[in-house]
Amino acid sequence: MEAAYYIKKEDLKVHCQLCPDNCVIANGKRGACKVRKNIEGTLIAENYGLVSAIHTDPIEKKPLYHFYPGKPVLSLGTAGCNLHCLFCQNFDISQSTVDELTLYSLSPGEAVEKALQIPDNIGIAYTYNEPIIWYEYVRDTAVLVHNKGLKNIMVTNGYINPAPLEELLPLIDAFSVDLKAFTETFYRKITKSKLHPVLEALKIIRSHKKHLEITNLVIPGLNDNERDFEQMTDWVSEELGTDTVFHISRYFPAWKLTNPPTPVKTLKRFYDIAAKKLDYVYLGNVSPYETGQDTVCPECGKTVIKRTGYHTEITGLDSNGNCRYCGHHILDYIK
Ligand code: SF4
Repeated sequence: MEAAYYIKKEDLKVHCQLCPDNCVIANGKRGACKVRKNIEGTLIAENYGLVSAIHTDPIEKKPLYHFYPGKPVLSLGTAGCNLHCLFCQNFDISQSTVDELTLYSLSPGEAVEKALQIPDNIGIAYTYNEPIIWYEYVRDTAVLVHNKGLKNIMVTNGYINPAPLEELLPLIDAFSVDLKAFTETFYRKITKSKLHPVLEALKIIRSHKKHLEITNLVIPGLNDNERDFEQMTDWVSEELGTDTVFHISRYFPAWKLTNPPTPVKTLKRFYDIAAKKLDYVYLGNVSPYETGQDTVCPECGKTVIKRTGYHTEITGLDSNGNCRYCGHHILDYIK
């Protein structure tokens, strides 16, 4: 499949404009994401219709806690990524070309057929590796998903240029975005990318009133500076709104990073910092019995959704997503 968002250059080169890497790619070479290849001056999305992982997951695993809580979602991933995070949990698929993996062919129509076969399924989540670099497949599948009355979810690093993001927005119902840190230094050194385009993408997503939840993975010694974290939560509350759902996630060593796991007491300290500014803060990747996983009404303080691991129980919401105790509106998406 010919890629979207590129221009042809001299000497059979192409300039990919999908993400802020803006790769200029020579004939026969691939971009930094490893899955967009220049073949004789045409940019090819090599991973179109190729799936590395397919599972039915609870929506809480994305993580999305305020989007149809307790429901399953068909989850698909492919190969490649435009970031190169040293701590990537899925580096085996995210840092590989399509030739290096065993991939399964799944057309957009076949993906939707699978989604329809799953009882109570809310739609398709594009996840596991980075769906931005699966742009054409996500776009084509998402149209069919909507035609069947299902939802589209992107679990993404948010590293995309504004024009392709704007084109995709009408098709995507919910975004789970990793905000990996709040310094350009971290983004440059640890992820080989830049922070400011991610912040721009977050503002665009929010301005289109799409459902958005943010996850920040706290890594000891790399992004656990309290002042930086406070600046991040200040920015989220001021630019995106105090009702932005914010997940603070525990890091475990993966791929090239051997720093020890995040102490739970650090996560709790960060939880307290975030909760001063934001209405809905959660701890992730912690024991199912740890605090900070239930949804609490910011108005009356009553627990309205109880979570134990991926078991979710809606205990205090009416069918419109309002708190049963005080009427405060909490969720737009519930069924
Ligand atoms: S999507 Fe891939 S090829 Fe295109 S600019 Fe980003 S990293 Fe480069």
